[in-house]
Amino acid sequence: MRVVGVRMLTRSRSRSRGPGDPRTPRGGEEEAAPLRTSEAAAEGRKSRCPVKAQRLTVAYEEDTEGGTGESTRSPEVPGWQPQDWQQQLANIRTMRSGKDAPVDQLGAEHCYDLDAPPKVQRLQVLLSLMLSSQTKDQVTAGAMQRLRARGLTVDSILQTDDHTLGTLIYPVGFWRTKVKYIKQTCAILQQRYGGDIPGSVAELVALPGVGPKMAHLAMALAWGTVSGIAVDTHVHRIANRLRWTKKVTKSPEETRIALEEWLPRALWGEINGLLVGFGQQTCLPVRPRCQGCLNRTLCPAAVGP
Ligand code: SF4
Repeated sequence: MRVVGVRMLTRSRSRSRGPGDPRTPRGGEEEAAPLRTSEAAAEGRKSRCPVKAQRLTVAYEEDTEGGTGESTRSPEVPGWQPQDWQQQLANIRTMRSGKDAPVDQLGAEHCYDLDAPPKVQRLQVLLSLMLSSQTKDQVTAGAMQRLRARGLTVDSILQTDDHTLGTLIYPVGFWRTKVKYIKQTCAILQQRYGGDIPGSVAELVALPGVGPKMAHLAMALAWGTVSGIAVDTHVHRIANRLRWTKKVTKSPEETRIALEEWLPRALWGEINGLLVGFGQQTCLPVRPRCQGCLNRTLCPAAVGP
């Protein structure tokens, strides 16, 4: 999953609703560019990313007792920065310029119905993020296609028995657990949020099966707000290989905190999609393709000649 093709132009201390919000005017320059995905093409329908080519607001809320989950760090004048990170980042942008990784075609921003009401679109973004954990993008997209073919809303999920729901989402990773989490989450969304998804990281991570990475991506994709860096296993692995963390980190959440301490905020929304695709195509988990990597002379973890 990713946040790509977006510009962060505004910084605000209060959360601003994104284009997916019904209170935000749609149309004009705020209108998202249509996306074409294999699944949408198969249905003869269009999909789009709610925030692609749109303005993203960076939310920096005061951290409250118990925390909001949204960063209040100020890395504009960092005390430490990784050596060569700007050149490494520029090289990754160059290697990713083709936008031809699985995440570029099948990420969460490509998995919701264009024609659905905004709150249903946001629900579908969240559900695709929940399905995507420990699952290849192709498998997630297939599961979303099957769910959407039946009409994917909070009510439709709650009216579907667990066995049928499991059949629809199989073979996503941990599908049995995800059936349980999706049902529980949809019940909460119906009871507390009128069938919509909540608009804060703190509320999102309180939902069953929703972790920080999903919450930050949901904030960006569904609400148009960059609340933090979305760190999955690709971002976690690559950040450590490039020594983008001051010391070795042991979990994606630890990596997120380490990155947010120095990476300029203007890059937070870009980094997930950039590194996920790079991790899918070049900096593979096993046997990374260092010979073809533009960073091979700058990377402490480069292998081979
Ligand atoms: S040189 Fe190898 S390990 Fe380093 S970023 Fe490139 S692919 Fe990854």
